[in-house]
Amino acid sequence: MAKPADTRTAGRKPVAKATRSAAETDKIRAALAARRDELRAEYDQTLSEITELQRDRLTDSAGDDQADTGTKTFEREQEISLANSIRERIAQVERALERLDEGGYGWCERCGDPIPVERLAAFPSATLCVKCKQLEERR
Ligand SMILES: [Zn+2]
Repeated sequence: MAKPADTRTAGRKPVAKATRSAAETDKIRAALAARRDELRAEYDQTLSEITELQRDRLTDSAGDDQADTGTKTFEREQEISLANSIRERIAQVERALERLDEGGYGWCERCGDPIPVERLAAFPSATLCVKCKQLEERR
C-alpha cells in the first residue's frame, strides 16, 4: 500500500518515549471510543441476527429436512463465533482506553516511536509501529 511518506521529517527522529501531546491523546481516545461504538453496534446487530436465526429455527422447521437443519445450525454457530470475536475486540478497545489514560498506550514496543492515531484506530491492539511491524513480518 503506497502512502504519502510525511513521517520522515527532515531526518529528525523523535526521541524514544517522547511525550504525546494532550491533543493527540484526545484524538486517540476519540478514535478508540468511535471504534468501540462501532463494534458495539456490530455486536448488537449480530445478536439480533442470532435471535432471528433462532426464531426461524423454531417457527419454520416443520418442513425442514436434515440438510436445512444442519445449515441453520451452522449459520447460528457462525454468528455466535462472530459475536464472540466482536466482543473480544470490544474488550481490546476498552483495555486500550484504560492504558491510554495511564500513559502506557500507543508506543511502539520496538523503537519507542508513537504509533500513528490512524493505525491505533484500525488496530487497537497494535503494539508496533508500521515500520517495525513490516520488519517483523519480513523475518
Ligand atoms: Zn517501531
